[in-house]
Amino acid sequence: MKNLFLPVFVVTFGLAVSCGASQKKTDDDHQHKKESAISVNYQSVDTIKVGNVEKTEDEWKQILSEEEYHILREDGTEPAFSSDLLDIKKEGIYYCAACGLPLFSSETKFESGTGWPSFYKPIAPKVVTKKPDHRFATVRTEIECAQCGSHIGHVFNDGPKPTGLRYCMNGLALDFKAK
Ligand SMILES: [Zn+2]
Repeated sequence: MKNLFLPVFVVTFGLAVSCGASQKKTDDDHQHKKESAISVNYQSVDTIKVGNVEKTEDEWKQILSEEEYHILREDGTEPAFSSDLLDIKKEGIYYCAACGLPLFSSETKFESGTGWPSFYKPIAPKVVTKKPDHRFATVRTEIECAQCGSHIGHVFNDGPKPTGLRYCMNGLALDFKAK
């Protein structure tokens, strides 16, 4: 009688690297055209001034890369696990990639396992605007930059203490500057 050995485990590592070849921000032109970010640390949040940055979509296209424009101005979402910011553990500030407003501090960043940079609160309540997002079956809460109205990500109620919130952000919508 023949022994028929069936493979017990057929492990297929479907490394779904759907990272969409995240174009690094090598486009210096785009960087230089951006307004210089305000230097801030977590202790000086009271000094953050939220202005009003208005640009035409054509002007945004001049400043932002194609990928950044899609996320920030067309409410896009980058592929999970594609952001260079995911593994950053350095102290520093995360700025709006469109207008340079400080949005998040490394002090509130946590590993959510979702594949997007996650924070439990913004650097100050005034720097973000919350809007209901009805685009999918469930109603989500969209997070926009309070200064320029660009789409940054969404906030969910399954975050860690002390807020219980998870600000699930697109890395391409943020510029990190180490302390
Ligand atoms: Zn902004």
